[in-house]
Amino acid sequence: MKCTACPVVTSGLNITVNKPDTAPKTELPKADFLIITWTDAETDALAKIFGSGKCSYKTLTSNTLTPLKVVGIPLPESANYHGFFFQCTIATKSVVACKCNFHPKMQTTETENLIKKIIGTAGTHNYKYVITSGTAGGIWDSIDVGDVVVTNAARFGLTLPAKKNLRFTGVANVKGSKPDNAATWFDYVNANLIKDNDCVAQNLFTAGGRATISGKPKILYQSSGSNIDAVVTNSHINNDHIDEEKSNLSIYKTMGASLDENDAFAAESCKAIGFANWVSIRNISDLPRSSNANQYTTYEYCSSINGAYAVWAFIMGH
Ligand SMILES: [Zn+2]
Repeated sequence: MKCTACPVVTSGLNITVNKPDTAPKTELPKADFLIITWTDAETDALAKIFGSGKCSYKTLTSNTLTPLKVVGIPLPESANYHGFFFQCTIATKSVVACKCNFHPKMQTTETENLIKKIIGTAGTHNYKYVITSGTAGGIWDSIDVGDVVVTNAARFGLTLPAKKNLRFTGVANVKGSKPDNAATWFDYVNANLIKDNDCVAQNLFTAGGRATISGKPKILYQSSGSNIDAVVTNSHINNDHIDEEKSNLSIYKTMGASLDENDAFAAESCKAIGFANWVSIRNISDLPRSSNANQYTTYEYCSSINGAYAVWAFIMGH
């Protein structure tokens, strides 16, 4: 069963937002933070948490966000726009959240050109920080559906050999500043926003979902024991590489940082234009080691809720 209705917390997040203008725009506004995400479920989760009831996103043709049509880059197939966006303020920080209609793994060159154009060329960057966010599969046994991995380390996985040697380190300080009552804003979210009795947690404890031994879902932002924090790989569902990814798990564990290749492409764009302050925030929607082929379908939206909280925590700390 696909969940589309996880309850979200928006009170106390210090977010102000105006209803988006639905007239198409040719460029994104400048801001302190840019969030780029990809799927409908991810955008839905961001719109619910960051939109404070004034933004909604279901599909390309059913949403209340601002369409983006950039000049000089061909449109994605089956989409009239390059993406959709809305603006908000978190504390005193300006934020633009954008759904990109190109899928980097499939429209590589177009996506890289779009991201470079959006962020701006060297010396004239339009944002202080860029967050790429979305669903992912989890490599390590300690990571389970519903967890979130925050990392500044980019490298391609093993499904795109020509690209696999990219190494890029983004924002220097992933943790950022901290609130008075927690070690980091990520810890604050773990303690206060991700709750045992949320749909996110309860539904993830159903058969084929999060294992009971994994406890409450959490944001991971640093290495723990022998586990490296940059530990996500491509989702294995609806992916031609499913068996390949499963067979590659042991190799991934020796590679250190490898992450969802959509983010690796985004990181490559950042590297090309000399933009350092990039971070990847990936919520674990499925596990290559799982035999449950419906994990992604069922938990994509639920895990995206936790991903959006992690994005909020990053913004609060930077
Ligand atoms: Zn749910």
